[in-house]
Amino acid sequence: MALEDVKQWLYGCSHCGTCKDVLNLFIPACPSGEKYQVESYFPSGRMFLARGISEGILSLDDEEIRKRIYACTGCLSCEQQCSVYHHQHIFETIHVLRTEAVTKGLFNPGYMTAYYGLRGEDNVFGKPKKERCNWANGFSVKAAASEKVDVLYHAGCQLSYEPTLWSIPRNVITILQSAGVNVGIMGAEESCCGGRAYEMGYLGEFDKYTRHNIETFNSLKIKTVVVSCADGYSFFKNLYPRQQIEMKFEVMHVVELLNNLVKDNKLELKKRLDLKVTYHDPCHLGRHISPGVYDPPRELLQAIPGIKFREMERIRENAWCCGAGAGVSQADPELALWTAHERLKEARASGADVLVTSCPWCEKNFADAAKRYQMKMRIMDITQLIMESI
Ligand code: SF4
Ligand code: SF4
Repeated sequence: MALEDVKQWLYGCSHCGTCKDVLNLFIPACPSGEKYQVESYFPSGRMFLARGISEGILSLDDEEIRKRIYACTGCLSCEQQCSVYHHQHIFETIHVLRTEAVTKGLFNPGYMTAYYGLRGEDNVFGKPKKERCNWANGFSVKAAASEKVDVLYHAGCQLSYEPTLWSIPRNVITILQSAGVNVGIMGAEESCCGGRAYEMGYLGEFDKYTRHNIETFNSLKIKTVVVSCADGYSFFKNLYPRQQIEMKFEVMHVVELLNNLVKDNKLELKKRLDLKVTYHDPCHLGRHISPGVYDPPRELLQAIPGIKFREMERIRENAWCCGAGAGVSQADPELALWTAHERLKEARASGADVLVTSCPWCEKNFADAAKRYQMKMRIMDITQLIMESI
């Protein structure tokens, strides 16, 4: 889409400021605006920037303007709070500006690792493709390319290349195997889902991975693709159907599949875990999905014997972002960490000892922020708790 195509939405913003806070709670909703405290970092300011660019008064050649466009985490909290007719298109408008910048050859240096990494090695970190499956070394799991599997576990870039997170895919496979699920992986043949490229404005890369993955999964007759990554989940669910290639498989997040297995008595949570936990809703598992996946993780956590569940102040549709989304970890790492720290403080205030999430991008960013701000808070993926309880 070009700026011309979204013009109808640019004049809808009344600059009422409702999107700055969570409705009725009067606590911040937009990470970038809140950190920088400058109107042009808030959604309303960005709508003004888009208008100025569309009318030729402002230009994407201005680095200060591009900084504000790249500092959006794509959390969609603004879209949740705003009730004007354009409200479902705020991030889409920002995304159009990013795409226009790419078209004009105005490359963001922060995105270059991801861009060249995708072109050369099929991952956003620029790490060797052959190392993609190191997390499964010495681990027994079916190879979906050569063995018949019903469920394909797609690890995604973050889990594949971040050794501190490798327990997550290993736990998922172990849990699914113990529940009798016929699961396999693509191994080193797995590719990026392409969603991050889309969010950064690189539509050519997005197109390439989308087509490749759909065709591969269809040809292997995969029934269900399961992911641990909330971002990947929303990309498969929302963006893939835009290619208009028939997807002969369904897509599930692991919390949905595990919750079903528990309800169907195929997975028993036996061991008591005496922990006070709170749950962070990843934006891509919540506001990016309709309806949002809010209940399955909460039901799973509360099915674990001994768990005391505490809610934070901003939850479900109103959850505060972890800060890592839409390329902000790459474009503005300080903003990413600051945003995560705000969430860690909220988790602490809930009285919980453990902050649980269900997305590796959130977990990594929380862990980095805890280190950076010297804050003691246990951060766990939900599957780690399930693993300990089975
Ligand atoms: S984006 Fe919506 S809520 Fe925010 S200032 Fe504009 S009209 Fe108001
Ligand atoms: S998507 Fe999130 S970070 Fe971006 S403008 Fe909206 S509230 Fe702010």
